[in-house]
Amino acid sequence: MTFANISLEEKQQVLEQLRQIKQQFAAKSWFPGTSGNLSMRVGDFDPGHFYFAITASGKDKSANTPEDFLFVDKSGRAAETTNLKPSAETLIHCEIYRLTGCGAVFHVHTIFNNLISEWFGDQGAVPAQGIELIKAFNIWEEDAAISIPVLPNFAHIPSIAERVENVLNPAVPGILLRNHGIYAWGKDAFEAKKHLEAFEFIFEYLYHSILLKNSLHQASR
Ligand SMILES: [Zn+2]
Repeated sequence: MTFANISLEEKQQVLEQLRQIKQQFAAKSWFPGTSGNLSMRVGDFDPGHFYFAITASGKDKSANTPEDFLFVDKSGRAAETTNLKPSAETLIHCEIYRLTGCGAVFHVHTIFNNLISEWFGDQGAVPAQGIELIKAFNIWEEDAAISIPVLPNFAHIPSIAERVENVLNPAVPGILLRNHGIYAWGKDAFEAKKHLEAFEFIFEYLYHSILLKNSLHQASR
């Protein structure tokens, strides 16, 4: 499969879905200061050969323009001639696609994912248990416990990308970068969005639950 073999119709459908997701996340203020990036795969998947569309670097993601996305290959290089530069964090998307074969990867910076990743950063993972939304990850056991990996936030993106394989857990479709943000993925855009929303709910829940426990502890002294 070459990039030219993938139908124009499929490419346009993917761009349209990304545009919609971008608008929905922008409405939640999930792209402060041009941060965050979204991608979706096109064509067939082979771990050594695949293509995906990704947000271009440095754009205001609350605006829609014809230059918001570009297609790249499995190494994060532009798949066609373009002036656009892929997002600086494209290599992390490449690695998640290569390891999981998923269909979409969404990355956002929020206050809650930053605070929780920092709070649990030294442990290397965020523990979550008995929260209803864990079911969004297709984990149905009662009182289920999951652990969401936290990677150090290096300025050198390849140093982050090379650590993804060590911590990725196929049952938990997300990885936090410490004091930076989350990468969440799914088999398609619908599932990746569902997973991302569930993670963000869990982080907000944990944030409030830690504060609540601390204030009850203070009060009981
Ligand atoms: Zn980021």
